[in-house]
Amino acid sequence: MSAPARAESLARLERLVAALRAKGLVSEEELAAMQARTDRASPEIGARMVARAWLDPTWRALLLQDGAAAAERMGVSMAGAPPLGVLENRPGLHHLVVCTLCSCYPRAVLGYPPGWYKSFEYRSRAVRDPRGVLAEWGTTLPAGTKVRVVDSTADYRWMVLPMRPEGTEGWSEDQLAALVTRDALVGVALPQVPARAAA
Ligand code: FE
Repeated sequence: MSAPARAESLARLERLVAALRAKGLVSEEELAAMQARTDRASPEIGARMVARAWLDPTWRALLLQDGAAAAERMGVSMAGAPPLGVLENRPGLHHLVVCTLCSCYPRAVLGYPPGWYKSFEYRSRAVRDPRGVLAEWGTTLPAGTKVRVVDSTADYRWMVLPMRPEGTEGWSEDQLAALVTRDALVGVALPQVPARAAA
C-alpha cells in the first residue's frame, strides 16, 4: 500500500472508530480486548487444532461441529468473535477460503491476515480462477479433485482442516502441528513433509 493510501485508510479507520464510540456501539475495553486477542493469536493455534484432529477422532468431531467451541476448549477466548467453521478436506475435495468483500479472517485462531489475503487480486481471482491461484502457490491437487471456494464474512469465519500427509504415521502432536502452515489453513497450500523427515 502506498503511503497516501495508507494514511487515507488510517484516517477512515479513525473516523469509523470515533463514530462507533459516539454511538456507544463499542467501548475502549472491547476494542482493546479484541486487539489483544489478535496480537496473541498466531497460526500456531490453528495448526495445533488441526494436529489434534489428525490424532483424536473425538476432537475432530467437535472441531467440525463447532470450531469456536473447540478453540475455547483449547483456552482461546472466542467472546465477541464470529462463529468459526472448519472445512474438512478429503480425497476428491479441497477447500479454499477467501473474503470476497474485504478481509474477514479467523483472527482469534490465526492472528492477523497476510497482505495477499486482503488484496483485490486474491479476493477476485480466488473465486474466478481458484485452480490458477493454487497453481501460482505451487499447489497441485490430484486429478479430479473438486475445489470448493468458501467466503468468510463478518458473520462467519472459516478455516481449513487439511488432510494429514502420508509418511507421518506415529508422529506426535507437536511434530504434526509443525507441518501445518498459515497458508494450509487458508487452503492455498498443503501440509508438506520435509524430504529429510520422509526419507
Ligand atoms: Fe471481510
